[in-house]
Amino acid sequence: MRLVLLGPPGAGKGTQASAIVKKYNIPHISTGDIFRYNIKMNTELGKKAKTYMDKGLLVPDELVVSIVKDRLIKDDCKDGFLLDGFPRTVDQAEALDEELDKMSLKLDKVVNIEVEKDILIERAIGRRICKNCGATYHIKFNPSKKEGICDTCGEELYQRDDDKVDTVEKRIEVYHKQTKPLIDYYAEKGLLLNVDGTKSIEELFNVIVKSLEGES
Ligand code: ADP
Ligand code: AMP
Repeated sequence: MRLVLLGPPGAGKGTQASAIVKKYNIPHISTGDIFRYNIKMNTELGKKAKTYMDKGLLVPDELVVSIVKDRLIKDDCKDGFLLDGFPRTVDQAEALDEELDKMSLKLDKVVNIEVEKDILIERAIGRRICKNCGATYHIKFNPSKKEGICDTCGEELYQRDDDKVDTVEKRIEVYHKQTKPLIDYYAEKGLLLNVDGTKSIEELFNVIVKSLEGES
């Protein structure tokens, strides 16, 4: 299974991605996670990416595309992968198509998670992430059992620097300008699967799996 998860910031891509990759046993490739890891490790890439991420802007295509290309040729992507948060521009989508063509591969589906702005903001500002394992929680919609502590590994949870109201609003604006055109791009290729992201985490996962398996 070769999948892309599309949707505005806070729609629930990462949350669904974690469940989907477990079910289909494929690698989860999140460009946002790759940048956050590089920021934590204080690499040159991390330093560059942070200047854009802190402002709610997209990291330049050339940086993102080369990271994804390097990742897709790894052995664990042989039988499938899930891209979460990539592509985010038409140029990135075209670069991905080119790369997959070279590898004689095709995407199976692009799952587009639809959620309106007010809900996106509430989801993003309430998001908490485990410092250690990256598990995602929400203070109201998906709280950890013990406040501020990860259920899985017992480490502390943190709030992303870019999950402040102003930055989230900017990210949503950037999504509308630069990423939304990908909905038409993939619809024209017959790959788009629109899903209602306002459902609960479990309900949405069931809808996605059923649709991927052709049951609805
Ligand atoms: P994205 O990767 O699209 O930015 P996340 O998966 O990180 O979004 O989800 C954003 C926030 O919303 C997280 O705090 C997550 O726990 C919460 N969330 C995700 N899906 C749902 C849902 N279906 N209902 C309510 N809250 C959700
Ligand atoms: P995410 O974790 O997907 O919400 O991404 C967090 C931030 O990382 C975004 O706001 C961008 O600044 C950057 N980023 C992640 N993926 C991409 C991408 N495909 N293209 C450009 N910037 C990206």
